[in-house]
Amino acid sequence: MVLYAKVNRPECIACGLCQMLAPKLFEYDQDGIASYTPDQNTGTEPLSPADLIDFKLAYTRCPTGAIKRSDKPFAPEDTKA
Ligand code: SF4
Repeated sequence: MVLYAKVNRPECIACGLCQMLAPKLFEYDQDGIASYTPDQNTGTEPLSPADLIDFKLAYTRCPTGAIKRSDKPFAPEDTKA
């Protein structure tokens, strides 16, 4: 299954968990707010199958549900990079 991902940054509380669990997939800005790095948080490029396990760990443990996933690319208006 093809999967797209992004962080809805207004929901992120800068807890640091996703970057710890999936360092290839998430990074933080100067305020600690996360973004999804493989496609600059646009949610438009499919997640690599090799990164699926790490992504699922971060996705399921994000305390606020800020990490989003979809079987379709996210629309530009959904992107709060
Ligand atoms: S786990 Fe969720 S709340 Fe924590 S930094 Fe990542 S996106 Fe933000």
